[in-house]
Amino acid sequence: MAILAADGSSIVKEQTVKACLSQSLFVNETDGYVEANDDVYQLMQDLIKRYRHTIGHLLNVQIKILFKKKTSKKNGKKVLGRASVFPEKDMHFHPYTFLIELDKTYWQDCPDKREPLLFHELCHCWIGEDNKASIRPHDLEEFSEVVRFYGAWESDVKHFGEQLQLGLEFKEEAE
Ligand SMILES: [Zn+2]
Repeated sequence: MAILAADGSSIVKEQTVKACLSQSLFVNETDGYVEANDDVYQLMQDLIKRYRHTIGHLLNVQIKILFKKKTSKKNGKKVLGRASVFPEKDMHFHPYTFLIELDKTYWQDCPDKREPLLFHELCHCWIGEDNKASIRPHDLEEFSEVVRFYGAWESDVKHFGEQLQLGLEFKEEAE
């Protein structure tokens, strides 16, 4: 199966990718993963184009997507997706900059969550002004109890609250 890049331009043979991924620091057990099909890459392209003001920098960036067969947990919570940067030395073996791993079961069971999950992981994939790839951290890390008792006590929380409100209004309008 051929693999389309985010911009739909490059085609890489699966065999090469698998061989390369096994050399990567991030994926050392290729058996635990399955290739994402063309539909997933198509969705990624659509999202990058639709949200180009946020993730337009990914238009010409090669992103590899794999499904993780076994659900993993972190701090007792299911890991639904994960984005990482391939080590720089890998560029000698394959064209990918980022790797997105998605939980296979979640993807299959929750079709309506696919878009936000993939968009979330794409938001992690950052290219700096120096053209260096990195993983962008989440905008907000907070406890629900603090927000409950102190509201938007800090600018990060305030911004997040405003965006949530806009999102809820947008959803209401759409329904
Ligand atoms: Zn995240």
